Amino acid sequence: MSKYLKFWGTRGSCAVSGPQYAKFGGNTSCLEVHYGQAHLIIDAGTGIRPLGEELMQRLQPLHLILSHTHWDHVIGFPFFEPLYSPLSEITIWSPAEDTKSCREIFNNLLRAEFFPVQLHELQAKLHFLTIQENTPIQIEPLTIHFHRAHHPSTTYCFKIQTPHQTIGYASDNELFKDYHGDLAHAPKDFGLVEFFTGCDLLIHEAQYFPDEYLQKVRWGHSSASNAAALVQKANIRRWMVVHHDPKHTDDDLHRLATLSQQLLDDHKIPCRSKWIGDGHVVSLI
Ligand SMILES: [Zn+2]
Ligand SMILES: [Zn+2]
Repeated sequence: MSKYLKFWGTRGSCAVSGPQYAKFGGNTSCLEVHYGQAHLIIDAGTGIRPLGEELMQRLQPLHLILSHTHWDHVIGFPFFEPLYSPLSEITIWSPAEDTKSCREIFNNLLRAEFFPVQLHELQAKLHFLTIQENTPIQIEPLTIHFHRAHHPSTTYCFKIQTPHQTIGYASDNELFKDYHGDLAHAPKDFGLVEFFTGCDLLIHEAQYFPDEYLQKVRWGHSSASNAAALVQKANIRRWMVVHHDPKHTDDDLHRLATLSQQLLDDHKIPCRSKWIGDGHVVSLI
C-alpha cells in the first residue's frame, strides 16, 4: 500500500500512558503521509520515535513538516532513528520566528543542556527550510498550502493536495475565540473557512468539551462545538479528530466523540466524524 495516512501520535500537549489511555494511545502529534514517491512526516511528537524504527527498514528521502515548534510537536525529534544514519536525507520544513531561522531552532532544541547529541553530530543529510504562508510547496505529486492557525507562536494549518483528493490538517487551532458553540450563531467571517472549503477530509482538533472550553479560552485549542462549526461552514463531509487532551481518558474521548456526532446530526450537517487513536491508517486513492 503506497498511498496512505498513518497516525503515529494523536495526543496533544503531553504524552500519556496507562490503561485508561489504552484505546486511543498516548504519543504526541505525528502523522505519516505516503503518496507514491512523496513521503512526508507531519510533526515530530513522540509518535515519530516508533515511526523512525520502522523507517530504518526502508530508508528513502523524507520531508518533515512542522505545524509549529511547541514541545508536543518536536519532543520526539532527537529520538528519530533515521537522523543517525548517513544514508538518510531529510528536508525539514518549519515555521520560524522573526529572529530565528529553522536551523537555529533545531540547534537550540539539541543544545547540550537538553540532549547529549548536538545538531552537527547527526549523521543524516539535513536541509532546513522555512514555511511561508501563501507559498505552497511542491513535493511531487503533492502540493501543500499553508495558512496561519489561531494558536500561540507561529503555527500553520496545512492543505495537502494529491491528484485525487485534498486533506486539511490543523492539530492546534482555536476557532472563534470566546464563542461557545451555538452553531446557529457561529461567527461568519473566518479565514480558515475559505481555506478548508473543498477538503475531502479534514483532520482537525477538538480538544475540549464545550463547558471545559469556558475555562480555557485563548489557550489555543478548540472545543468540539467550535470545531463542528468550522466543519459546517466549510462543508466538510469527513472529519478526523486528533490532538486529544492528556487529561481525557478513553471513556472521556468516547463521550466527546458521541457528543460531537450528535451535534452534527442535530444540525443536519452531513459529516461523519471519527476520533482517531495512535496507529490508525487511512488508505488514499
Ligand atoms: Zn500541540
Ligand atoms: Zn501548540
